[in-house]
Amino acid sequence: MPERSRLAAVGWALGAALLLLASQPARAFSRLAAWRIDADGVLELRTSPNINLDAFYLQGDERRGDRVWIDFPGSPQRPRKIRGRGAVREVRVGMPERGVTRLVIEFQPGAQLDPGELRLVGVDWDSWRLRFPIDEARFLPMGEGVLERQRPAPRAPGSASRPGQPRRPLRPLTTASLPWVRRGNFRVVLDPGHGGRDPGAIGIGGTREKDVVLDVSRQVAAHLRSKGVQVVMTRNRDVTVDLPPRARLANRSKPDAFVSIHANAISMRRPEVNGLETFYFQSFQGKKLASSIHNSILRTVRRKNRGVREARFYVIRRTAMPASLVELGFLTGRLDAADLADPAHRRQLSLAIAVGILNYLRLAG
Ligand SMILES: [Zn+2]
Repeated sequence: MPERSRLAAVGWALGAALLLLASQPARAFSRLAAWRIDADGVLELRTSPNINLDAFYLQGDERRGDRVWIDFPGSPQRPRKIRGRGAVREVRVGMPERGVTRLVIEFQPGAQLDPGELRLVGVDWDSWRLRFPIDEARFLPMGEGVLERQRPAPRAPGSASRPGQPRRPLRPLTTASLPWVRRGNFRVVLDPGHGGRDPGAIGIGGTREKDVVLDVSRQVAAHLRSKGVQVVMTRNRDVTVDLPPRARLANRSKPDAFVSIHANAISMRRPEVNGLETFYFQSFQGKKLASSIHNSILRTVRRKNRGVREARFYVIRRTAMPASLVELGFLTGRLDAADLADPAHRRQLSLAIAVGILNYLRLAG
């Protein structure tokens, strides 16, 4: 009969409780922000500050390996299974009951943990460590989300550069960087992608595309308006808007430029895929607009350059003015996801997009 042990959990909770201040009532969202298993078999967790965790151990049988699970306050955004690597057969993020997120680490059958050695230790007010005591087990790194606290953005020139990208000096922007254009002379339609029932991409840490792009679009709108540009938004809150009404609104508004703002996603198993890409459709002015935004972003924040390209997205294909669609970065990318979740980074992105649009308007007319 499998040995189901809560004793160990009590032991861990005690070990962890030394650094815990208080348990808090469950809130709507999961307090698990990020997890990682490293090559030394250490599970690291980042959570909301000052929470209490419950951890459990269940001995495996012939069919299934040992399991360790930890419960966090708050429901997961998306229950999911992640195929394991090495000694880990599978990791699951589930909801055993409403308001609880359960992280389950299931080991390969035959991998034997020593529950007496399991200790979940609070190492900081929002960080935890648990070493899996298995002799001669092979661990391969895996995880979701960003364990390190968000760093201030943009990074200073000369800081470690990202792979596949030359070092270059970045130019942090302020509102004083916004170029002058003739007041009252231009109109721009901004199109924050998705919204309402359509969250768009959901990335590392549960970040939703619809939230990121609305925040950025609103900031871009404020910057443009501060320079006397009239701005029309296809949505200004979390509502569902189909694509045809977006294009119709743009065509009716007869703007000088249309800019659709999105964030990219690819499989959660491809955290190495990061970067900025900006699109236009069959128009030289559209290409100029796309390039102006794209290059302004690359001058401002550190981002892999995936290029300015032609594409057939509905909102740039069915709009009758210079139009561009920018994919700010990959919500599933390790680098971009951390940046896009960072309000300071989003402020820089918004300034960079506004500068790109204003430069385009200035040169276009
Ligand atoms: Zn999108």
